[in-house]
Amino acid sequence: MCRHLAYLGAPTTLHDLLHAPAQSLLVQSYAPRRQKHGLVNADGYGVGWYHPGRARPVRYRRATPMWADASFAEVAQVVSAACVLAAVRSATPGFPVDESCAQPFTCDGWLFSHNGRIEGFAGVEEDLRREAEPAVPDARAPVDSALLFGMAVRLWRRGRPLAGALAHVAARASALAPGRYNLLATDGLRLAATACGDSLYVLRTGEAVVTASEPFDGDARWRQVPDGSLVTADAHGAVIRPIEEVACTDP
Ligand code: GLN
Repeated sequence: MCRHLAYLGAPTTLHDLLHAPAQSLLVQSYAPRRQKHGLVNADGYGVGWYHPGRARPVRYRRATPMWADASFAEVAQVVSAACVLAAVRSATPGFPVDESCAQPFTCDGWLFSHNGRIEGFAGVEEDLRREAEPAVPDARAPVDSALLFGMAVRLWRRGRPLAGALAHVAARASALAPGRYNLLATDGLRLAATACGDSLYVLRTGEAVVTASEPFDGDARWRQVPDGSLVTADAHGAVIRPIEEVACTDP
């Protein structure tokens, strides 16, 4: 399993968000504390963020461990953003360690990450592919998560809300194949995340909201999200609802 996080709030440097905290995503790449599957996340990583005046997010990825990328750590000290989504990867057996499989995936204005796996992927791949947007480059990456991204993009492009689409993809994929479906996405203004088989936490401070696989510091305001839930967050706060309820009721 991987670890991922999304941030929305006052501009922060990527260093302060991803490298500096005591249990930062960087630390989680070699010593995660709440991870239920896998010991390290050394099979690549990625960071996506929004830059003022640019409609699409900037996305940086590597197939190497986050701790091995000293050059990015230096750049991260001077890059600031008000919305960030990042992930470190522990590749599911059967899928390559390749930059194309490192998340976040991106398309149009969205960033997306899947922490988990689709059990028996080969048996359901064609079914899932039929529900995924076909021509999106990241949705064609040779990894199970890519098809979940393709399914989300198709729903978003048809006007489904950011969070409603994630709930639908998690519910639909769970119905087709057992697995773990912790999904995370942003459009730069909102965050959405599912807790579906692995840990998920939310932190609300006066100036930001964060959803993350595990807390990156000792702040007492981190709250664990119950399994089976969907988190939606924007500048006004965060709401937690059952995935099934949203998947069935949202347009
Ligand atoms: N299945 C995805 C991959 O192989 C995600 C892995 C994970 O969450 N560890 O990259």
